Amino acid sequence: MISDTIAAIATAVGESSIAVIRVSGPDAIPIVDRVFRSKTALTEAQTHTIHYGKIIDPVSNEIIEEVLISLMRGPRSFTKEDVVEISCHGGMVSVRKVLELVLEHGARIAEPGEFTKRAFLNGRIDLAQAEAVMDLIRSKSDRAFGIAQKQSEGLLSRQIRELRQTLVATMAHIEVNIDYPEHDVEDLTNAFIREHCESALVEVDRLLKTAGQGKMLREGITTAIVGRPNVGKSSLMNTLTQESKAIVTDIPGTTRDVIEEYITINGIPLKLLDTAGIRETQDVVERIGVERSRSAIAQADLILMVLNYNEPLLEEELDLLQQMTHRPVLVIINKMDLPQQLRMEQLEDVVEADRLIRMSIKEDQGLQELEKAITDLFFEGRIESQDLTYVTNSRHIQLLKQARSALHDVIEGVEMLVPIDMIQIDVRRAWEFLGEIVGDSATESLLDEIFSKFCLGK
Ligand code: GDP
Ligand code: ZN
Repeated sequence: MISDTIAAIATAVGESSIAVIRVSGPDAIPIVDRVFRSKTALTEAQTHTIHYGKIIDPVSNEIIEEVLISLMRGPRSFTKEDVVEISCHGGMVSVRKVLELVLEHGARIAEPGEFTKRAFLNGRIDLAQAEAVMDLIRSKSDRAFGIAQKQSEGLLSRQIRELRQTLVATMAHIEVNIDYPEHDVEDLTNAFIREHCESALVEVDRLLKTAGQGKMLREGITTAIVGRPNVGKSSLMNTLTQESKAIVTDIPGTTRDVIEEYITINGIPLKLLDTAGIRETQDVVERIGVERSRSAIAQADLILMVLNYNEPLLEEELDLLQQMTHRPVLVIINKMDLPQQLRMEQLEDVVEADRLIRMSIKEDQGLQELEKAITDLFFEGRIESQDLTYVTNSRHIQLLKQARSALHDVIEGVEMLVPIDMIQIDVRRAWEFLGEIVGDSATESLLDEIFSKFCLGK
């Protein structure tokens, strides 16, 4: 008999407009009710009803988020338990606060795939479905997958918005030209349009190219564990994978020098790379495994740099840290159980305090701090996975193609000296197609956007 109540972000991470937090278990309704203010108490509410209200921290009375709550009493729910789904529309910070509140008030964070697992255990799904669930849990979690997918969508939106900014700038430029149609301005304008629309075209093509790749999102956030031999990289890798062994896939390293493991931390999918791998070098000249580290660092979305508390910092380590100040790096000071040899002052200049994690892997210290730091970086949007930028949605692909064709028309028009107000129409079409991808309403906002961002002093 399952007696505890679990919660997790079930959908959006990143810039998507709505995120759903799902809470399931015997206390789902009273737990959420503790942090929810609305006309009627959830505990009184009927099943399959939706409630508007505010999530409030009952201790500070701070309003965290305006939400819609869907309430489903078991057994008529996905898990057959009482389920509450909280739809938030704010950014990730408030979504996360809501989740934290729910956790503080009695739920625990769900493990990857756990909602599905409960559905199975409670007889909600059959054997065939259960097998699919096993697969999911073995390979990766549905929740992790959802997060990866949503983050990808968030990144795509950001790139589309940047593209649209370029086009808005172009349109603003053209407006000026239409108002002041002197010749010299027109030449400049043509060059401007060409340059901007060509660069937009390159970007649209790049996005379209990712569409066919089918590399999928299973890769997760590429995380390189770097450091010189013997600092504890492999130990860290082992600890992290054991922590989440339910979802670790035993895929042996596909590259020669690097061991890969797939894990999730609070639902965030990570692909861990132990750079030194099996063949650790003992060569003094190559103390830090420079070459391997560098290439791993270059391709990493997140870098875990491991240092030894029990040894003085090496010049090479300091150099490496200095080079990485603008990258998402967490510096792990391992072997805190041993006497101090490392001078912390040396680190303070190059590493922000909240990026320093003190650990003793041997004595099981600091793992939670590390997981929290990784989660924080991720939710603050400081980790961006290149792997996650994939256009997978066929509607998006269609719209990108239409935008591409409109941009082609623009460039052709410029070449053929088509009147500028005709060209404007095509720029605008491209801008509108891209707008449909991110769901920005088209026409009304156009002029506002031009005038707020490119105030022409009229
Ligand atoms: P790597 O070469 O960086 O992969 O380091 P390993 O993970 O192979 O660890 C090197 C040695 O340090 C092993 O003998 C580990 O047991 C030991 N070690 C790892 N973490 C700690 C720690 O926190 N404290 C102590 N005292 N020893 C550790
Ligand atoms: Zn190792």
